[in-house]
Amino acid sequence: MPDRASLRIPVAKPLLEGNEIKYVTECIETSWVSSAGRFIPAFEARFAEFCGVEHCIATNNGTTALHLALVAMGVGPGDEVIVPTLTYIASANAVSYCGATPVFADCDPRTMNIDPQSVASRIGPKTKGILVVHLYGHPADMDPINELAAAHGLFVLEDAAEAHGAEYKGRRVGGMGRCATFSFFGNKIVTTGEGGAVTTNDAELAAKLRLYRGQGMDPARRYWFPVIGYNYRMTNIQAALGLAQMERVDTALSRRARLAGWYDAALAPLADVVQRPHVETWARPSWWMYTVLLKGADAARRDGVMTALDAAGIETRPVFYPMHIMPPYFEAEGHYPVSDVCAASGLNLPTHEGMSEADVARIAGALAAALA
Ligand SMILES: *Cc1c(COP(=O)(O)O)cnc(C)c1O
Repeated sequence: MPDRASLRIPVAKPLLEGNEIKYVTECIETSWVSSAGRFIPAFEARFAEFCGVEHCIATNNGTTALHLALVAMGVGPGDEVIVPTLTYIASANAVSYCGATPVFADCDPRTMNIDPQSVASRIGPKTKGILVVHLYGHPADMDPINELAAAHGLFVLEDAAEAHGAEYKGRRVGGMGRCATFSFFGNKIVTTGEGGAVTTNDAELAAKLRLYRGQGMDPARRYWFPVIGYNYRMTNIQAALGLAQMERVDTALSRRARLAGWYDAALAPLADVVQRPHVETWARPSWWMYTVLLKGADAARRDGVMTALDAAGIETRPVFYPMHIMPPYFEAEGHYPVSDVCAASGLNLPTHEGMSEADVARIAGALAAALA
């Protein structure tokens, strides 16, 4: 057996050590394997309670949750939605699925979240809403965004795919805009394999979300379809996994916070070259991915460091490439200087519950060696 110090450390890894096997087995033994069954409403109720919101509508993944939310809020051709350029591509693609246009905003240099001033500069006559992403689990600064939205009659949608349980000014994300979406992909803080959800305090919107999730079938008349809907339903098996995950989500969050503390301490001696994640005084991150910037590094240098870490058995990921350099969204004249710097110099270090303080020491040592 190889000793622990030479084992590969993956960047993410789900922990399925609670009632997952018991609940999934129940689905199979009772034959409730599709999108009806007790775990779906149980998971939805549990997740709504966790976020402190009235309604949770579970979906088959986080991207369909985003699309569903935009559809239910009436986004369509000709509309514009402001999206951070520094995000996972699903945030922008969901807007495109509606026939609408994502209009990009730059980010804040400390949190890498959407910059309210940049948002303000992108609001125009076609703007319908603002899609905020709580990137890598640090909540975005919601108050100025909500003020802008109120002043211009726009919706605010939180993409909280990476931020389960993150807090903004003492409140959990998921209920700070008109609605919010989550992902339960295998590398997210709570996983259902693939899965997603929309949360909201708006009962009318919740009804629309349920309607469009289930092919648009009239809840009062079976097999009558007043609108073109989608099949974006979550299965009972996914919800079974999710319910088991939610039973230990508080432990998951506190272990991630502890891990971030270990990283902060281990990387402090490298402060000249490694910028550790900034946490706003009003924020409590979910610590989805512990993300550092290599000061002054360009993408080639960052990629070289990642290759060296890989050779040392440590998997990392580059910070997301910004949307404005992707072929479908390319902007020759795009000016997003902060996002460009974060994307070129940033990397995500392994962040998952199974990690020990010794793993963190090993990663910090390998990073120091790679930078030397
Ligand atoms: C993971 C993620 C999504 C998409 O979720 P899937 O479940 O993979 O479809 C959307 N937005 C962000 C910011 C994400 O990180």
